Amino acid sequence: MSARGGHGQAGVGVARILVIGGGIAGSATAMAVRKAGFDVVVHEAHPDSAEDLGAFLTLASNGMRALAQLDASAAVTALGFPLTSMRVLDGTGEQLAQAPLGESADPLLRYRCLRRGDLNSALQAEAARRGIEIRHGARLVSVESGPAGVTARFADGGTATADLLIGADGLGSTVRGTIASEAQPVYAGQRVFYGYTRTAPVPSSPSEEDARITMVRGSAAAFGHAVSPDGETYWFARVSADPLSADEIAHGTPGTWRDLLLPLLRKDTTPAADIVEATTGTFLVTNATEIPVGTPWRSGRTLILGDAAHAASPATGQGASMALEDAVILAKSLRDAPDMDAALSHYEALRRPRVEYNITVSGNISRGVPTPPSTAPAAARPGEAELARHLEWEADIWAAG
Ligand SMILES: Cc1cc2nc3c(=O)[nH]c(=O)nc-3n(C[C@H](O)[C@H](O)[C@H](O)COP(=O)(O)OP(=O)(O)OC[C@H]3O[C@@H](n4cnc5c(N)ncnc54)[C@H](O)[C@@H]3O)c2cc1C
Repeated sequence: MSARGGHGQAGVGVARILVIGGGIAGSATAMAVRKAGFDVVVHEAHPDSAEDLGAFLTLASNGMRALAQLDASAAVTALGFPLTSMRVLDGTGEQLAQAPLGESADPLLRYRCLRRGDLNSALQAEAARRGIEIRHGARLVSVESGPAGVTARFADGGTATADLLIGADGLGSTVRGTIASEAQPVYAGQRVFYGYTRTAPVPSSPSEEDARITMVRGSAAAFGHAVSPDGETYWFARVSADPLSADEIAHGTPGTWRDLLLPLLRKDTTPAADIVEATTGTFLVTNATEIPVGTPWRSGRTLILGDAAHAASPATGQGASMALEDAVILAKSLRDAPDMDAALSHYEALRRPRVEYNITVSGNISRGVPTPPSTAPAAARPGEAELARHLEWEADIWAAG
């Protein structure tokens, strides 16, 4: 039977895969390698799947395309709402641009706005529905990689062995620490705030807000907002400043954050300040953080992907979509490769230029500096058509160019 039929493991010398982390990258990777015919178990530190970090995100058309290749679109289009256009305002409220967003004509590939925790839960549930074992409450503490296999040790004293261990354990990755202990996330120059309100001032023509995200280039903050079909306004603000301390984040109240944001937003005459003023519930506050480019991803039988390998500042809104692309391209590399080493090298060669370009561009937006044209030559990065071929499940990843 061909690799396409899901028997790639016989050739590649990998039968059993451990995925550490059951977030967006981990759940998607588990589904992808299972679809390619590998035996996989996910180990997730959280005791249940109900983690909700409160923030929302947008899945871009490239992320939706990766999901479609995993036959997982329906699990995600049941959540949140589509975004088909974007407009950009300046600080006076003047419209600078209005444009369709991504592949807006295709219902499966449209941008989607949804809560991050909902996406996590849905992907975990979909993986479990496919018979993939997800062990909750399994916090990885160390990895031992040898010629014959890799062993994961967990905080509860348990162990698991496999041919390949994939670290999808996010920004603070323990797996990354075993590959490159010196590689630490760095602050990307902006504080980031998220909130929701059902009492924001109603737009003069509500239908104009349908499926549209508005970005405001304010004088003291970048602001974005979209209104769900049932009238809830989702918003974010990014503010250039020193990072907030863990203590400030832990003890900030909605009042603290409104007091911090409103004077910045009131400098402009856009809807932003009124939306934040109308937000009385929880604010989610983080520091924009990125993994330095050049961070090693691989050691022996261990590989990191998703945020563990290439977290970027949220400015380009691509982190989750990149994680979904990783899942499909890794599974196809393993499926179609002659051996594991070749598969992991090919995966890295395909992914690194693209995800590091995103780290650079997103970090530059957050730091307010232009991206020089010389950054990551275009020739080294797959274009959109090439990426679509890489993601296409039936296309051989080695032949896809
Ligand atoms: C506030 C915010 C807003 C964002 N907005 C966007 C956006 O608009 N668009 C977009 O595409 N992306 C966005 N992103 C980025 C996106 O959320 C991430 O890129 C994406 O969640 C990465 O998924 P991941 O699975 O790699 O990491 P995570 O989602 O962090 O998942 C890691 C998982 O590993 C588990 N874990 C950690 N350590 C261990 C351990 N030792 N043992 C076992 N399990 C462990 C964690 O519990 C978690 O479940 C945003 C991120 C943030 C923080």
